[in-house]
Amino acid sequence: MLKLEQIESRYGEIVALHDISLEVNQGEVVVLLGVNGAGKSTTLKTISGLMHPTKGEIVYQGKRIDRMSPENIVRDRIVHVPEGRKVFPGLTVRENLLMGSSNRKAKKADLNKDIEEVLEIFPDLVPLIDRLAWSLSGGQQQMLAIGRGLMAKPEILMLDEPSLGLAPVIVKQVFQTIQKINKQGMTVLLVEQNANMSLRVAHRGYVLENGRVAYSDTAENLLKENKVQSAYLGGH
Ligand code: ATP
Repeated sequence: MLKLEQIESRYGEIVALHDISLEVNQGEVVVLLGVNGAGKSTTLKTISGLMHPTKGEIVYQGKRIDRMSPENIVRDRIVHVPEGRKVFPGLTVRENLLMGSSNRKAKKADLNKDIEEVLEIFPDLVPLIDRLAWSLSGGQQQMLAIGRGLMAKPEILMLDEPSLGLAPVIVKQVFQTIQKINKQGMTVLLVEQNANMSLRVAHRGYVLENGRVAYSDTAENLLKENKVQSAYLGGH
């Protein structure tokens, strides 16, 4: 479905990704693991068109997308929920959700139905629907950020550290939600520091080190792998 081949990406002179090859198949949850600075966020930014690779190819459903604008990539239904949630603080929950659908032409009645579907996934947002986003808790804002992503009707949903800074009980909810939307058919590419929890919901994982894929395997094997255990799972 999505394939990165020998991707190099730079911030000016700094090479952040040296040689990233990976693939995401339809229906999978794939997780990118690695310490801070390994290149996980840069990989997502390169897929979503916020950065263009300086080498390599990105192919999505048989089409090269690595020169496309972020607007066109989201129109092709690859949707990026960035790190740090980034909801629009001065807009209501409903308005934030509607912003998520701006990549497609949809009738008002359809949008209302889509909002209802998102609220079924995130029932905690129902009583907050007319509240301004800044007044939500961190966990509620994360739910809203994912919900806004879903409003774009993704074929691939890319989530950058959705559990960051949230209380353990909320982290659990976030992972349960990822599992639930995947069971409904959504393909998910996840970036996480929480290797243990994310490998429990993922099918496969890639461990990045210094802008390269150090190794990749099924989530089950990565959970067993001593190297991953000691390097990334230690504290969790
Ligand atoms: P984190 O969890 O901290 O976001 P990461 O694995 O996602 O880590 P990236 O953010 O992709 O890592 O960073 C990869 C490399 O690119 C790092 O060496 C980082 O210092 C560098 N880098 C990231 N953003 C920028 C930027 N805006 N300008 C210059 N260098 C950057």
